Amino acid sequence: MTNTSNLPPLPWADGAYSIKRHGVSLTNCDSEPVQMPGCSQAHGVVLVLRVSDLTILQVSENAAAHLGLGPDGLLGKSISTVVSAEGERRLREYLEKEPIERNPLYVFTLPARTGAAALDLSLHTIDGLAVLECEPTACEAAAAPDYYALVKKSVVRMHTAQTLTDFCRIVTEEVRALTGLDRVMVYRFHADFHGEVVGESHRTDLDPWFGLHYPAEDLPRPAREIFKKIWVRPLPDAAAPVMELVPLINPDTRRSLTMTHCALRGASVMYTEYLQNMNVAASLTMSLLVDGELWGLIACHHLTPTQFPYQVRAACEFVAQVASLQLRAVEQRESLAYRLRLEETHNRLVGQAAQDAGLAPMTVGKPNLLDAMDATGTAIFHSERWWSVGDTPSDAQLDDLKTWLEARPEFQSPMRPVFATDSLVREYPGGAAFSAIASGVLALPLSRKKGGVVLWFRPETIQTVRWGGNPHDKPTVTGPHGPRLTPRKSFELFTESVKDRALPWKSVEIEAALRLRVLIMELVVSRADQLTEMNVDLTRSNEELEAFAYVASHDLKEPLRGISKYTHQLLESAASADGETRQRLEGLMRLTLRMDSLLDSLLHFSRVGRATLQFQPVDLNEVVEEALEMVAARRQEIPTLIHIPQPLPTVVCDRMRAREIFVNLLANALKYNDQPQREIEIGCHANDTRGPVFFVRDNGIGIEPRHFEMVFKMFKRLHGRDAFGGGTGAGLSIVRKLVEQHRGSVWLESTPGAGSTFYFTLSPPLLP
Ligand code: ADP
Repeated sequence: MTNTSNLPPLPWADGAYSIKRHGVSLTNCDSEPVQMPGCSQAHGVVLVLRVSDLTILQVSENAAAHLGLGPDGLLGKSISTVVSAEGERRLREYLEKEPIERNPLYVFTLPARTGAAALDLSLHTIDGLAVLECEPTACEAAAAPDYYALVKKSVVRMHTAQTLTDFCRIVTEEVRALTGLDRVMVYRFHADFHGEVVGESHRTDLDPWFGLHYPAEDLPRPAREIFKKIWVRPLPDAAAPVMELVPLINPDTRRSLTMTHCALRGASVMYTEYLQNMNVAASLTMSLLVDGELWGLIACHHLTPTQFPYQVRAACEFVAQVASLQLRAVEQRESLAYRLRLEETHNRLVGQAAQDAGLAPMTVGKPNLLDAMDATGTAIFHSERWWSVGDTPSDAQLDDLKTWLEARPEFQSPMRPVFATDSLVREYPGGAAFSAIASGVLALPLSRKKGGVVLWFRPETIQTVRWGGNPHDKPTVTGPHGPRLTPRKSFELFTESVKDRALPWKSVEIEAALRLRVLIMELVVSRADQLTEMNVDLTRSNEELEAFAYVASHDLKEPLRGISKYTHQLLESAASADGETRQRLEGLMRLTLRMDSLLDSLLHFSRVGRATLQFQPVDLNEVVEEALEMVAARRQEIPTLIHIPQPLPTVVCDRMRAREIFVNLLANALKYNDQPQREIEIGCHANDTRGPVFFVRDNGIGIEPRHFEMVFKMFKRLHGRDAFGGGTGAGLSIVRKLVEQHRGSVWLESTPGAGSTFYFTLSPPLLP
């Protein structure tokens, strides 16, 4: 082996970087030029040739061990120093005809020499140079398995997978069958590049790593970039030393060699140390690419150094390529299945809500909003309160979050009103109080007017995932570069990187949430439509009823007048008739009079409905005074004490109608009283949330609670026709109608035998 230590050390800044000389430090591992390590692996030799004349420009320092000649004997010489004339001819043929640009292809095997194994030669070109890699042939052709048959079987099995988990398991089983390695994993990258083992096949005596997560730092960005360009990365002996290229700078290009595509590329010290800390002696890694992006890796580990013959690597490369193509289809199938499941649940939820007349049931029973999403808590704000299920922040925290969300631009978006985050704290500091249960938030506004909102929550990842370097599982190890690559240190970094972070929301989930919103909005709109329809129907039938009442009362009055006239005439002409006939005629006369007053009430009632009101500020003290005058006759009949303890306010209302309300209530208060000392109080509660509440209170006979509603019905009386001064039973119906025309309401409190209080409000008219 040539001694390279007397070569002048070149500064890295000049581009002459060598992992052997410069290594890496903790601070530069993310900028380490892993594609130009300046070194090859020790089990083979890299020869860099000038394409035009196949002169050897660079060679690994260990060339002598494999080729019998070291750099001194090779540099500047023709490749014919190493290969036969036939070999040289084949190399030229490959250079001219085969697609070897950045794509190493096996060319031929250099026969064994005394003291050295036969070497498999593969060739590729890059930056105008030819790179010839020589690796000891691993197995005799006769003993090699039928890789074609193995790969064919693998591809068929991969096609059978129904779910992503199935698919990843099959991939690992097939790669293990192909390679015979101790552990094969499918490692998937999350959006933040932290990885998760989603498929695994391993020697039965090894612990399973399935489901473990690894920090993004375990595979730094430069390494990830390389994996986007190559399919297979072999490292047969992680502990072996690396061999520097001589010279480090290529004399033709004046640059370091780009070794991205070299199977023999020397591995980063960080990586080899990391493997050793996991007791892994050899690794074979394949890329899984979807749409040119690194989806994940097929990572294979072996506990003892091994060899990865060219055929195995070619078979693995093929499997990785097929797996990458298949992955997209499997993912699409799985996300379609998930979408269908979400949509089916959403449809059922909205169906339930349509029947139950409300959104609140979405958080109770089965299915509920939590089944409609891969989340651990959900809350819906509806009918002025929160309805929650699962792990959610408190109502007060939800209120604050809602206020914050409502100001977000996402909530105002007409097309996609949805807010989704995997780390609420980053945008909303208030989220720190509940980040353990709700670092991830997916929020949908419902009705802007009523402030309706649906929220789903996901916990901080650290709470839910099992991590590969959990210090509770493994002893503390300190590597040659300090604790950086040890499980404990790595765990600390990981904990830091996933702090306040939840697993991100998938686009299929966001789309499903938006669709659910549309369904809910449709439900709300159709409910509003139904209500409007019912209102229109109701108004129409009210109008029809009023029209009927008017026509009926008006037209019936005419014949009634005739009946009354004839009865009168009969009474006069029958002055001599016997007592019984007279009595009957007098009865008929009373009935016509009663019918006349009933028709008057009906006419009056229908007029109340048809008249337009004149709203203006009205001093109710004046109104009450007028009303008292109008019932003065009855007051004289039965002396009654009237109290008005406080002056009444001035409110916007129709003066005549307001007076009519008071007249009716006062007339009743005077009538329905059999106390020796009769009293009436007229007043107003000014500080009620509904506006001023007026009341007329008496100490009369009172009303039983079961009749509270009935007294407002047309022609309903609780007494005999002539008891308490008689009446038609229309007074309170008219009061209610007048109050409703003012958008107010009327109700009563009463104790039989002790008295009644009739309350009413008069809301100001709506602006047109
Ligand atoms: P009318 O007084 O013409 O019968 P109303 O519609 O004014 O019709 O009242 C309906 C019924 O309610 C009355 O017949 C009476 O039984 C009851 N009522 C109304 N006001 C009072 C009151 N202040 N105290 C007791 N009962 C009352």
